[in-house]
Amino acid sequence: MFANFLDFVLDGKKPALTEGRLPSGVKWTWLGDGIVRFEPEAAVLQSVVASAGIHGDETAPIEILSMLVADIASGKAALKSRVLVIFGNIDAMRASCRYRDDDLNRLFNGRYLELAASHEAPRAAELENVTRAFFAEVEVDTDADAASTHAKWHIDMHTAIRPSVFEQFALLPYTGEPLSRVMFDWLQDAGLSAVLLHKEKSNTFTHFTAEQAGALACTLELGKVRAFGHNDLSRFAASDASLRRLIAGLAPIARSNPTLKVFTVVGQIDKQSEAFKLHVAGDVANFTPFARGTVLAEDGDYTYEVLRDEERIVFPNPTVKPGLRAGLMVIDTTEETFDSL
Ligand SMILES: [Zn+2]
Repeated sequence: MFANFLDFVLDGKKPALTEGRLPSGVKWTWLGDGIVRFEPEAAVLQSVVASAGIHGDETAPIEILSMLVADIASGKAALKSRVLVIFGNIDAMRASCRYRDDDLNRLFNGRYLELAASHEAPRAAELENVTRAFFAEVEVDTDADAASTHAKWHIDMHTAIRPSVFEQFALLPYTGEPLSRVMFDWLQDAGLSAVLLHKEKSNTFTHFTAEQAGALACTLELGKVRAFGHNDLSRFAASDASLRRLIAGLAPIARSNPTLKVFTVVGQIDKQSEAFKLHVAGDVANFTPFARGTVLAEDGDYTYEVLRDEERIVFPNPTVKPGLRAGLMVIDTTEETFDSL
């Protein structure tokens, strides 16, 4: 099962037993299709959720995670953390599509309750339950002191649909809590070149785990979408290595010359009606900058004009339904963010 967890899951197989012990002593528990928990024998300092395939066609991180499962099983990957591995939207993975009815990564924090007929709604409920229980077990199994220092992490790995000025970047959910130095150290260790800070709450998976469990949660956008077997996984070596260091209980490797840029959301482009016009090429790269005075979108009386010296566009998409966000606008806040850590 664990030698090729991806094929096992795609084939719809289920293990004869739902738990067992690896030769290394690590206990494994099957918690659902594409969901497996690993627990080392010795006391652990942290719990880590590692997820991929929340969007079914984002194959590279799914392949990376499947290899990590194989290496945990063989003992090649050291384990000093409780780890919950999740393949998110398995039906969409089989169909090589982003989602069947609804974007799974917009259904968390109970939003699935409004879309009960959606193919993705039961999976969102299942993933909420399994991650909530995974983090809650920490408080039950350890004394109060140990529980307060037990770190909780969630690394949710994706690939972006469009090119990006920064090929690999992270998004941090907004919780109202101060930013975490250790998270920024980890993001730099993972070789990312940019991080985007949200300023509003949302219904993503990492927002759910950050808010509900207090997890250090990040969404990683690791390059472009390709078909299974067509990824150059060497491009993802840095993030793979830093995830392996994290579950091995090792500190992030400090970079003497950090190059991580930080951007903060300052506005969004809203699609009001079918008359919406986005004055940006369909294939414009994420984080493309625009100068003050540029009119980026028009829709009846509505316009979006760049009001700061420079704003950058992220996730532009004029084909969304009216009433939804057609793009995010961000500004460079690298200096003030690092000063605040
Ligand atoms: Zn995605």
